[in-house]
Amino acid sequence: MNRYKKVRGMHDLLPYETEKWQSVERTLMDVARLYGYKEIRVPVIEERALFERSIGSSTDIIAKEIYSFKDRKGRDLALRPEGTASVVRAFLESEMPYARKITKLYYYGQMFRYDRPQKGRYRQFYQFGTELFGGADPFFDGEVIEMLNAMVKNLNLPGYFFSINTLGCPQCKIRYTGIIREWMSGRRNKLCNDCQIRLETAPLRILDCKNTECREITRYAPDIRETLCEECKRHFGQVEEYLRKADIPYRVQPNLVRGLDYYTRTIFEMFAGDDENAVAAGGRYDSLVSDLGGPNIPAIGFAIGMERLLSLIKDKTKKTFNFVYCICIGRQAKIKGIEIARSLRDAGIITEIDYEERGLKSQMKEANRSGARWCIILGEQELEKNEIIIRDMVTGKQENVAYGNYLEIGKELINAEKP
Ligand code: ATP
Ligand code: MG
Repeated sequence: MNRYKKVRGMHDLLPYETEKWQSVERTLMDVARLYGYKEIRVPVIEERALFERSIGSSTDIIAKEIYSFKDRKGRDLALRPEGTASVVRAFLESEMPYARKITKLYYYGQMFRYDRPQKGRYRQFYQFGTELFGGADPFFDGEVIEMLNAMVKNLNLPGYFFSINTLGCPQCKIRYTGIIREWMSGRRNKLCNDCQIRLETAPLRILDCKNTECREITRYAPDIRETLCEECKRHFGQVEEYLRKADIPYRVQPNLVRGLDYYTRTIFEMFAGDDENAVAAGGRYDSLVSDLGGPNIPAIGFAIGMERLLSLIKDKTKKTFNFVYCICIGRQAKIKGIEIARSLRDAGIITEIDYEERGLKSQMKEANRSGARWCIILGEQELEKNEIIIRDMVTGKQENVAYGNYLEIGKELINAEKP
């Protein structure tokens, strides 16, 4: 019947889902604001080079997943596969580094990756993310994780926990990369084809391979914490101290790495329910700002995958307390109905009214389908007596009310329902 279908990996969010999305979005933004974060909105299109430079050319995201194209003037552009690079770019371009010592930003929007579509994996997906610039202290790491913890606690996410690890400072990271390269080289033949290439280009990424055999090998790989410098050890120790004091459910996962090049020191992922995929992930990226041409400013952030988060949250479908469906029988009633609808809307009450002058039965059916919490019925009899009927759509109880009082009474009923 319909000629056009959505493109593979894309999905629509239909009205029955968007209400839940909006409420989750509000919770995330409210919590971020409590921690002093402000929203930044960055474009979906950037120079491809920005992502190559920040995420790393040898990562899957750049090598296999990025949507890139030339525009009419031949510029090399890309749809953003993640938010951090753009936020750092905007942070530097707007000279925010000179405005405050600490800058805290949150963003929300669509990301694009040519992933293999499956549950929890789309080609367009939403991320809510936060970035903190200017804080090197390990307690910032703790606070960022605590904020993410507060978000999911507020959303009653079932059985969630954090996996954390450290990648060390750039020197530690280089040293550990060497150790892993050597250790994995001895096991080269057991690695998947991709990982054999990674052995040359980015050995740490072998630790993130999803292949079962590579995973099995990785379990026995050397732990970075045995080779960390004193400063990195102290940093990680203090992050753990913060998390313990804040009562955050976490475990240290020695071989945790991330799929993006820019991370240093603390990295973390959050899992929930029985989902194998991380719901959120992030970490410190102390060199990215300077790598992108800015001053030496440490930073830390995370991104939540919204589709994965939403799939774990139980839907509490409830009739909207603030929603009235107005049924009018006959033309005279309709004219009064318009007045009623207008003043209810002015009072901030969602109101629907059908102008088609259909019978009571079919309008009642429609009112039921609409999900309205209340129904106002205005028929000929009511009109004669200068009354209206207010029907409670949950209990089915109805009450006749003098027309002049409907607004007061309507408001009273509706307010009584407010949580
Ligand atoms: P994965 O290992 O699952 O591919 P990733 O390491 O590529 O994840 P990040 O770049 O850290 O993911 O992105 C942060 C979060 O964004 C992920 O934890 C996930 O919730 C979400 N995410 C990433 N890719 C997708 C996708 N293709 N579809 C839906 N959500 C995604
Ligand atoms: Mg990925």
